[in-house]
Amino acid sequence: MYFNNETVLYLDGKFVKASESSTDLYGQTLHYGYGAFEGIRSYETEHGTKVFKAEEHYERLKKSCELVKIPFNYTVQELVEATYELLEKNNLKNAYIRPLVYCAPNMSLTKPTSVSLMIAVWDWGAYLGEKLLRLTVSSYCRPHPKSIHIEAKICGHYVNSILATTEAKEKGFDEALLLDSDGFLAEGPGANLFFEKDGKLFTPQLGNILPGITRSTVLELADELDLEVEQGKFTKEDMFQADSAFYCGTAAEVVGIASVDDYQFPTNWNDSLGKKLQNAYSLLVREPLKQNPFN
Ligand code: PMP
Repeated sequence: MYFNNETVLYLDGKFVKASESSTDLYGQTLHYGYGAFEGIRSYETEHGTKVFKAEEHYERLKKSCELVKIPFNYTVQELVEATYELLEKNNLKNAYIRPLVYCAPNMSLTKPTSVSLMIAVWDWGAYLGEKLLRLTVSSYCRPHPKSIHIEAKICGHYVNSILATTEAKEKGFDEALLLDSDGFLAEGPGANLFFEKDGKLFTPQLGNILPGITRSTVLELADELDLEVEQGKFTKEDMFQADSAFYCGTAAEVVGIASVDDYQFPTNWNDSLGKKLQNAYSLLVREPLKQNPFN
């Protein structure tokens, strides 16, 4: 599904066939989740394929590695160029791009001596689908920011996301919503949360969440559209009085939320601020470079 006999990967500065590449079984990333990754999308635009906010994503990858002391020996520019070349080699325009920095064999709990970087690309539709989501508040909270660097996109953090998603699906919901370790609204397993009340938007402040690149794009779009947004600490009860809500993330893009547990958002999605922002986001990522103020 992610690759076939023709698929090309970028691996340590070279383009190689995915079907002919392998990794060792003694790496710290495989055993301990000690690695960092990104999720990026490219879109077909009038001026060719455009990787949306490529620099910001590779800057975050660099920062994630630095925060957990994984050596990062690449420049953002070389990775952006490699990504465009990789898309071309795989004949992909609208694609999902997955860079992963993983560590060489070392079974000790010490800093890695050397690392590898691979980039994979594949065709991936909207991650959470197109229909409105039915969420449940997870029994798992996001990791405590004093235990790990929650602002980094580290492989091991995603065990928390997998547990929350699995629990939600086992209970018959589409997706989970996680609180932070203080009980405030945090985020989804792979997306940030916004909700709307009385014509104003609310979103959890930075600190206990992944600082999403889509979240900051939505904030920029809201500003362009003259929408008021408050970033702060909000509770489930705040959200259970809201008119509408949505998740946003690179893979999910902007996706409306129908309900959280028993609470149904009363505003029709098509009349919500989220829908406006969904349309604006969809246009922005496909806009020609020149007219795109965010690139
Ligand atoms: N929160 C979490 C936990 C995520 O995994 C993601 C996806 N990277 C997001 C939020 C959204 O981030 P972005 O918009 O940068 O994709």
